[in-house]
Amino acid sequence: MRFTNLTRQNEIGANCYHLQVDDSGYLLDCGTHPKIEGNGGLPLLDFLADQPLQAVFVSHGHLDHLGALPLVMDDRPDARVYLTHASRLIADRALHNSASVMIRQRAELNLSEYPLFTHGQVDHLLEDIETVAFARTFEVAGADVTFYEAGHVQGAAGVWIEAGGCSIFYTGDTKFSDMKITRAGKFPDKQPDTMVIECTRGSMPSQPGSDWEEETERLSAAIQATFERGGSVLIPCFALGKMQEVLKVIHDLMREGHLAEQVIYISGLGRSYNEIYDDLSGVSPRVCPGFKLENNLELIVLDSKEALTMRLGRGRLMLVSSGMMTPRTMSHTMAQRMMPDERHSIFFVGYVDPDSPAGKVKAAGRGGRADMGGEAGEMDIRCRVESFDFTSHCNRERMIDYVSHARPRRVLLVHGETASLEWFQQELREKLPESSILIPPSGETLNLGD
Ligand SMILES: [Zn+2]
Ligand SMILES: [Zn+2]
Repeated sequence: MRFTNLTRQNEIGANCYHLQVDDSGYLLDCGTHPKIEGNGGLPLLDFLADQPLQAVFVSHGHLDHLGALPLVMDDRPDARVYLTHASRLIADRALHNSASVMIRQRAELNLSEYPLFTHGQVDHLLEDIETVAFARTFEVAGADVTFYEAGHVQGAAGVWIEAGGCSIFYTGDTKFSDMKITRAGKFPDKQPDTMVIECTRGSMPSQPGSDWEEETERLSAAIQATFERGGSVLIPCFALGKMQEVLKVIHDLMREGHLAEQVIYISGLGRSYNEIYDDLSGVSPRVCPGFKLENNLELIVLDSKEALTMRLGRGRLMLVSSGMMTPRTMSHTMAQRMMPDERHSIFFVGYVDPDSPAGKVKAAGRGGRADMGGEAGEMDIRCRVESFDFTSHCNRERMIDYVSHARPRRVLLVHGETASLEWFQQELREKLPESSILIPPSGETLNLGD
């Protein structure tokens, strides 16, 4: 078994890993980089030109795992794509949205290579997808493959592959505890030869006892305090996963009487994913089977004109994308309107890239200045700024426990900044002195056959 890391750097970028066993080739994920536009945001796809490729296994519907799939499948029409039913619904929406964004950005960012794929290519790809049930083994091109629930987002899977007498388990993005909608991952209690693990939280020590419950109490108090001083609340968040989970947090706070029932303003892409989550409510494994966001909350989609003109009087609550407050998005527009007024609040509910406008506002905080990018430039921050950790990734200690228990002979560390990967490497070398713990270099092929 040979493993090649096709991600361009050791980071949370365009995730993509190639496996070769005898004459068969498999791809684990095929994403785009969340920050880098154009061809530079793709994985090292040239590597695939002279490699076998029969199957692509997609762990989940976030674009850093999925976004480059139409390009690969256009080149390799004989290969098949495997993902869960929920991930297929998400992929449809996410890839079409990505094509629309690239068509718009072609002129805005002067990128002649955009769009990297068309709506037609996405439709074509979706026709050829095989959907996979959790915990059922299927055979493809000489491999026995099983998808296991990974938590993280609806449809997310860890992928177990047995081929050529070797086994490898790829965790994808993972959460081992229940969130509000998506339930905890359920990985198999067995030992693979090789494990490929995500290292997102490697630089973040978990605080004892601080999971979502404590953060929910803090968020509730912070929203109430804003309303009491006559302000409005902006929560910039990712449209897929984070928005639905935080809407359920707010729903529960309203149902339990901690917050008054009121309208919540959302963005159009968020609504699309709400509808997918609601369609999956009786189908996909979850904490609250049957619960539908759109039936239980009063949600209004903000359009870009309203975002500029809406009165921000007392007590508006807005959950809009993008989570990074990228220029020309709803959250960027709203943030610019709210930052000059000390009554308002901006609350971050997950990871933000330090180089993004959201990252700069978060770092500078109230009383500071932040470069908002685009035409907005530097701005004073007079509103409140607070951060809440509603992470959809497992804490690093939980991941160490899981890997130490499974005792793979080899661990490959991916999906993390260098400091995170190195933290995992050091911890696992102590916990599993017999195993080899590697950070697979970009573009290099490792032989896992020994
Ligand atoms: Zn993800
Ligand atoms: Zn990811």
